[in-house]
Amino acid sequence: MSDLRPVVALAGGVGGAKLIHGLAMAGIERLSAIVNTGDDFEHLGLHIAPDVDTVLYTLAGIANRQQGWGLEGESWSFMDQLEKVGAPVWFRLGDRDLATHVLRTERLRAGERLTGITRVLSRRLGAPADILPMSDEPVRTMVNTISGEVAFQDYFVRLRCDIEVKGFRFAGIERARPTPEVAAALRQGDLRAIVICPSNPLVSIAPILSLPGMRELVVGSRAPIVAVSPIIGGRAVKGPAAKMMLELGQTPSVIAIAETYAGLVDGLVIDHLDAGAAAEIEGLGIAAHVTGTLMGNDDDRRRLGMECLEFADQLKGAGREP
Ligand code: GDP
Repeated sequence: MSDLRPVVALAGGVGGAKLIHGLAMAGIERLSAIVNTGDDFEHLGLHIAPDVDTVLYTLAGIANRQQGWGLEGESWSFMDQLEKVGAPVWFRLGDRDLATHVLRTERLRAGERLTGITRVLSRRLGAPADILPMSDEPVRTMVNTISGEVAFQDYFVRLRCDIEVKGFRFAGIERARPTPEVAAALRQGDLRAIVICPSNPLVSIAPILSLPGMRELVVGSRAPIVAVSPIIGGRAVKGPAAKMMLELGQTPSVIAIAETYAGLVDGLVIDHLDAGAAAEIEGLGIAAHVTGTLMGNDDDRRRLGMECLEFADQLKGAGREP
């Protein structure tokens, strides 16, 4: 039987999308996903929102699972032609994927909000959650590298993360705000849990939590807050999270994740491989739940989603200072 209480998840792309899919499959009908937009950028005149689209395509069941971005069964005529006419091809846009970007860009230019456009796309593609961009105002993650500052997609895709990072800046964050829809989701009185997905804490979750007013909304909800570690056995499952942590002088581990979220989360879900760190995490005032956290297939996603909520239910009443 499905639980009628709402759940809110905070997410970036790949790791976040998988757990949100798991929560949806666990029967959460009132599920809102607050998604990072710090990765968004303008490319070839189009507004690209990589994390929103990864969540959208994953929930709609049309994501390319091997690749970790884009659509399954994609074709590439547009890219082939772009190359022939000498346009930049470092950022791959599939033919069908293009429809999302063209529609989004057209509607943004007509004055619509990213939130409204995302809802239209979600409904049309059949995503079983309310996908909420963290803000309608532009926030752009900038990566400070040893060779100077570059925009996030330049770092991530063009440079393939192959340059040492020194820090991050979320350009525009002072002027951006959580959307009214994000605030409403977090203010639901019967909220069962807030789940911080196993997304990159530095460039997926940090932009969300850095929005003015966002932390207050999260903590003020009084729902239990549970995070899932994106680091398993000292490594990231995918992407540069562990490499970034090392370059910033942190040891990539579940302890570092616990330290990052200390003072915010009530509980942290860690992998069996990291069971030995549970006591130290508890020492930071965070309850630890040890389970399999690698989401290799749909069953893993559903089970982890379910376990996050059962864990959150146990933490209920742990009580936070308002
Ligand atoms: P991105 O914006 O596409 O890089 O996506 P995210 O920030 O959402 O996800 C990247 C993080 O997800 C990485 O740090 C990975 O370690 C983590 N991740 C990916 N798949 C899994 C998984 O199956 N389990 C866990 N625990 N973490 C995962």
